[in-house]
Amino acid sequence: MVPGPRTYRVRVSRSAEPAAPLGLAAGLDAAVELLGGLRLAVLTGAGISTDSGIPDYRGPDSPPRTPMTYGQFVSDAAFRRTYWARNHIGWRHVDRTRPNAGHRALAQLEERAVVVGVITQNVDRLHHLAGSRSVIDLHGTYADIVCLGCGARSSREALAMRLEALNPGFAERAAVADVEIAPDADAVIASTEGFVVADCERCGGMLKPEIVYFGENVPRERVDRAFALVDSAQGLLVAGTSLAVMSGLRFVRHAARAGSPVVVVNRGDTRGDGLADLRIHAGTSEALPSLAERLPDP
Ligand SMILES: [Zn+2]
Repeated sequence: MVPGPRTYRVRVSRSAEPAAPLGLAAGLDAAVELLGGLRLAVLTGAGISTDSGIPDYRGPDSPPRTPMTYGQFVSDAAFRRTYWARNHIGWRHVDRTRPNAGHRALAQLEERAVVVGVITQNVDRLHHLAGSRSVIDLHGTYADIVCLGCGARSSREALAMRLEALNPGFAERAAVADVEIAPDADAVIASTEGFVVADCERCGGMLKPEIVYFGENVPRERVDRAFALVDSAQGLLVAGTSLAVMSGLRFVRHAARAGSPVVVVNRGDTRGDGLADLRIHAGTSEALPSLAERLPDP
């Protein structure tokens, strides 16, 4: 049978049923055995940033949440006002977060040339802050703003000053207790009525965070760079993601198809479990530093 465009051949050794996940100690032994001496690409998600204080809305203990779509953002002015009002509060919390031991372990592994680069689904820039240099922000970053009219880019920090001038005292009036930190720098506040949205200073166009929202595609050039990163490595380490969205899962499929070992470190099951050679059910802040300690230089 000729495989269709959506099918692919997996290694004979891979079974349809994923192998049972291992705990931290046994998992680390197996990971060192499997990945030792190899150059690794890493794919990370929200789970790696939870210990930095950014909640993972897809984690096993997370409340259900309806994500904002690109269509809502561009078509509904009231929705957009609420979005920006919340973002005006929420982005500061993300901006104040700092990398944790998991981010730092990956930066050290890159320094030692064990890790060739990180593809992250997070928009928090914590890998950059931890010192990783080869990072692909697959879903963009909260820290940059783009104009949907003319394409002009600016920093979130500069926009914060403009929003503050347009809405004096708004951030102070929104009680801290009402604010809930969200991965996309969104925040929940009681009321956003009267909030004034800032438009592009150059063309008056609509401004949007440089974040890939549901209903949007990751730019092709970025996807290609991520595939190239996976191709330049000899194994793939997946850390802190349930691989719920295809934008991340496709790189696991790509590595598996190429016959590269795939190791998944996550607190719960993932959509990529059937493609993994090894699954470790553990937190990334514990697992990654231990792994960095034990993996030999290639
Ligand atoms: Zn513009």
